[in-house]
Amino acid sequence: MPSSCKLEAPALLETLFEQLPDSVYLIDPASSRILYCNRAAHAGLGYAAAEILDHSVLSLQKDVVGAEQWQAIAAEIRKSDPYVFVGRHRHRDGHEVAVEVYTRHFEHGGRAYFLSVARDITARLALERDMADREAQLRFALNEATDGLWDWSLPTDEVFFSPQLKRMLGYGPQEMVPVLDTWRANIHPDDAGWVIKVLQDHLAGQRERYEAEYRLRNRNGHYLWVHDRGKVCERDAQGRPLRVVGMVQNITDRKNLERRLQRLASHDSLTGLLNRRESEIVLDTQLELCRRMDVSLGICLFDIDHFKAVNDLHGHLVGDRVLARIAELIAAHVRGADYLFRWGGEEFMLVCTDSTPEALAGLAEKLRATVENARWEDVAGLHQVTASFGLAVFPRHGRDSRELFIAADSALYRAKSAGRNRVEMAGD
Ligand code: GH3
Ligand code: MG
Ligand code: MG
Repeated sequence: MPSSCKLEAPALLETLFEQLPDSVYLIDPASSRILYCNRAAHAGLGYAAAEILDHSVLSLQKDVVGAEQWQAIAAEIRKSDPYVFVGRHRHRDGHEVAVEVYTRHFEHGGRAYFLSVARDITARLALERDMADREAQLRFALNEATDGLWDWSLPTDEVFFSPQLKRMLGYGPQEMVPVLDTWRANIHPDDAGWVIKVLQDHLAGQRERYEAEYRLRNRNGHYLWVHDRGKVCERDAQGRPLRVVGMVQNITDRKNLERRLQRLASHDSLTGLLNRRESEIVLDTQLELCRRMDVSLGICLFDIDHFKAVNDLHGHLVGDRVLARIAELIAAHVRGADYLFRWGGEEFMLVCTDSTPEALAGLAEKLRATVENARWEDVAGLHQVTASFGLAVFPRHGRDSRELFIAADSALYRAKSAGRNRVEMAGD
């Protein structure tokens, strides 16, 4: 006598059912009574073979309560093929067994039956829980290690913004609508285009990962500098990205420091003008640009007259103030496209793109008069400061920065020799 419940079945088939690791039940649709089950089914729930026949789905399933609910489920089973159900079986000793049950309906000899195959998923659920715990821990650790995490689901366009990320941007836990546009709308307008392009390139497989440093607006409307990194972590069967996760770091302090250092390296601290090092870079790049566009470029060197005497008579601090003031006066007359440098001690250089010799001479004359007419009431005994100007224009007076500079410098020398407070153009 096999240990399974009674059923007229060929011996081999019976043996096969007995060996199945999954539980098999034959159920009467009307009453939910168990008509047949294999060993895995009754042994797994702690019953002897014959005992299980006194049971029904109602007594074995924790989730099915009352005949009415069974009828509703039976109706669903008749509609589905198969009907899949994840629930709990009741073990004889009272504990629950997590199961995944597949049920089909069929007729045999004019009678309706349900056939259920149930698998014990206790171990699988524990594994899933463990993985979920680990993922939660990982998320927690990552969230703490960075200034925020995001997780974008492409099919739904939903984005999870971590609490840390919201905090970084000054939002509360319930704020920030979880869609991509919330992020996109807050990128600085000057950065948005290229940042989104980098993300799209990554989605299209043209970049190994998405990575960008850009400005992101916080809740107050101020911009933070962020370093943002992400990667596609899930794709569909065709390789299309489904999910991208990433992390954000607030790098505002570093960027501000970088900008300060850059400014220190390129600007003169007394006058705030670009320095000589920068003049060499700018002159070369502007010359190259003008050469390609076939337009002229003018340089104007000017040097304060008898400045040594200002220092000697009034002291170095007054000399410094005079330098700063002259830089300010000249800067006010310079076009946005021009570059003004403090080239040396009391020597300055102005670079004007697309400027004819006549226009450059006119501008220099205006600058000369501005310096000459400046009032120095705040410095006792100082009545007037003047400067001398030497001009040269590309391509007429020189083909590269060196030739041009030499031409302007010798024009300046002539202005000094001819009595100072003058403008001289380089000779042809
Ligand atoms: P010239 O008309 O021939 O140009 O006469 P100058 O006295 O202006 O020429 P010179 O080159 O002999 O002297 C320039 C002076 O500028 C010498 C230097 O001490 C002074 N100087 C250079 N840089 C600074 C600065 O940053 N602050 C002050 N106060 N003086 C400076
Ligand atoms: Mg001088
Ligand atoms: Mg000088």
